[in-house]
Amino acid sequence: MDYNLVTHLESCATIIKENADFVHLINYSHVPISILALLVGGYVYFKNPRDLLSRILMGISLAFSLWSFFDLIAWLSTDSRYIMFAWSMQGMINALLFLLCFYFVHVFITKRDLPSWYKLSLTLSILPVIILTPTHFNLTEFSVASCEATEGQYFLHYYYLYNLFLFLSALLLQIRGYWFASKASRAQILLLSIGIDSFLVSFFVTGYLASVLENFNLAIYGLFGMAFFMVFLSYLIVQYRTFNIRLLSVHALVTALVLLVGSELFFITSPVQFTLIALTVIFLLILGRALARSVEKELERNEELQRLTGELAVANQELRRLDTVKTEFLSIASHQLRTPLTAMKGYLSLLLEDSYGKISEEVKEILNKVFVVNTRLARLVEELLNVSRIDAGRVQYSFEKTRLEPVLKELEDAFSVGAQERGLKLAFRMPERPLPQLSLDIVKIREVISNLIDNSLKYTKQGSVTVSVRSDAGFVEVLVEDTGIGIAPTVLPNLFEKFVRSKETSKLEVSGTGLGLYVGKKFVEAHGGTIRAESAGLGKGSRFIIRLPVPVR
Ligand code: ADP
Repeated sequence: MDYNLVTHLESCATIIKENADFVHLINYSHVPISILALLVGGYVYFKNPRDLLSRILMGISLAFSLWSFFDLIAWLSTDSRYIMFAWSMQGMINALLFLLCFYFVHVFITKRDLPSWYKLSLTLSILPVIILTPTHFNLTEFSVASCEATEGQYFLHYYYLYNLFLFLSALLLQIRGYWFASKASRAQILLLSIGIDSFLVSFFVTGYLASVLENFNLAIYGLFGMAFFMVFLSYLIVQYRTFNIRLLSVHALVTALVLLVGSELFFITSPVQFTLIALTVIFLLILGRALARSVEKELERNEELQRLTGELAVANQELRRLDTVKTEFLSIASHQLRTPLTAMKGYLSLLLEDSYGKISEEVKEILNKVFVVNTRLARLVEELLNVSRIDAGRVQYSFEKTRLEPVLKELEDAFSVGAQERGLKLAFRMPERPLPQLSLDIVKIREVISNLIDNSLKYTKQGSVTVSVRSDAGFVEVLVEDTGIGIAPTVLPNLFEKFVRSKETSKLEVSGTGLGLYVGKKFVEAHGGTIRAESAGLGKGSRFIIRLPVPVR
C-alpha cells in the first residue's frame, strides 16, 4: 500500500487538543456503551453458551465493541498508520454487525437456524466487503490537514446497500413474525423490534450521513442506539428467565460505580487522593460482592419456593382427582344399595298389612323391627347419595311457589307416633295468619326439616320438641327446639360440616352419620336461605333455625 503514512501528526494532535470537549463525548459514547454491550452479551453467553441466540448476541457485542475500539483509535490517534488501519476495518465490521443482527432477528422469531443456502448467499454477498477492505477501494487517501481518511464511494455504497438490504429483511421478518404470533409472543417480538431497530436505524443513518457529508462527528451519535438495544434486550431476557434482572442490576450497579469511581484514578496526581479513591474502589468491590451474594441467595430461595409450589400444585391435582373418584364411587354404590332397600320396604309393608295372609303378632313385631332398621338404612343411603351429588355439583332442584304449612302438617303426622312412644311431647305451633308463598323445592325442604325434628327426638331423653314458624321482614323462619342434651360451644361452629358428631352423641349410642346437617345447609343455601344452631350449652337443649327468603313479586 502506498498511503502517505506518517506518525505523530502535528495536525491530528492540534485537532484533538482544540476539540477537547468533543473528545470527552467520544469517550463517553464509546467506552460505557461497549462495556454495557459486552456485559449483557457476555452474561447471556456464559449463562447459556450452547444456545445459538446467546452466541449470536455475543458476536454482536464483540463486533460492536471492536467497531467502537477502532473508532476511538481513528478519533484519538496521532499516528496515521493506526488511524488508517482502524478506519479501514470499520466498514467490514459495520456490515458484519448488520449481518449478525439480521441473523439474531431470524433465530429469535423463527426459533430456527438459517438454512445453509441462505447462510452461503449471505457469506458470498459480504465477501466483496472483506476482500476489498485492505485496498484503495475502501480508503483512497489520508488527509494530513484534517487528519481524516477519504472513503471510496463504490465500497461505501456497496456495504451501506448491503446493510440496508439486511435491515429491511429483518424488518420484514419482524412484521411477519408479529402478524402470525400468539398474544404472549407478540409483546416479546415488539420489544425486540423496538430495541434492535432503534440501534440499526440510528447506526445506519448517522453512519451514512457522516460518510456522505464527510461530517464524522455525526457517527458517534449512532452508538447510543446500542444502549437502547441492550436495555430492551435485558428486559426481554428477564421475561424469558434466561437470567434474573435483579442479579444483573446489582452487578451492573456495582460495575458502574466501580468504573465511575475508578476512572477518577486516571485524573488525580495527589498520592493521598489516590489512596483514598483506591480504598473506596476496594470497599465498593467488597460491598458489591456481598450485595450480589445476598440477592443470589434470595433468588435461590425463591426458585426453591417455586419448585415446591409446583410440586404442591401437582399433589393437589392428584388429591382432587382422588376426591372425584371417591364421589363417583359413592354415587354408584349408593344407587345400587337404594333399589333393593326400596323393594324390601315395599314387601315389608305388604307383609305387615297382611296382604300375604294373616301373620302372628310375634312375627309382626319382628317384621316391624326389620322395617325400622330398613328405613334407617335407606335414610343413610339417601344421605350418602345427597353428599356425593353435592360434592359433584350435580344436585337438581325443582322450585315451585308454595306454602310451608302442608309440609309441616305432613311432618307432624309422620313424627307424632314416634315421639309418643319415646315419651316426648312434640308440639307444632303454626302462625294464626297464613304464611307467605315461598319458592321451594318441597322434597328437599321436607328432608331438611324432617332431619332437624328427627335429631331433636334422637338427642332428647325427656321433655319436649317444639316446631314453630314465624314470618318477618321478607323471611320465613322455621324453628326446631328441644330440651335435649344440648351442644357444647366448641362443637357449635363446625356442626354443619361433613361427618361432625359431638362426643356426647357418640355416648348416647344413637345411630347417625354426621351428614344430615351438612346436606341440610347445602339445600337451604340453594334456596337463598340460612340455617344456624343455638344452644346454651350441654344439657341445656338446642334450637335450630332455618331462614328462607320470601320472593319479591
Ligand atoms: P347425625 O344426627 O346423623 O349424627 P347430623 O348431621 O344430623 O348427623 O347432626 C350432626 C351432629 O350434630 C349430631 O351427631 C349431634 O352431635 C349434633 N346434633 C344435631 N342435632 C342435635 C340436637 N338437636 N341436639 C344435640 N345435638 C345435635
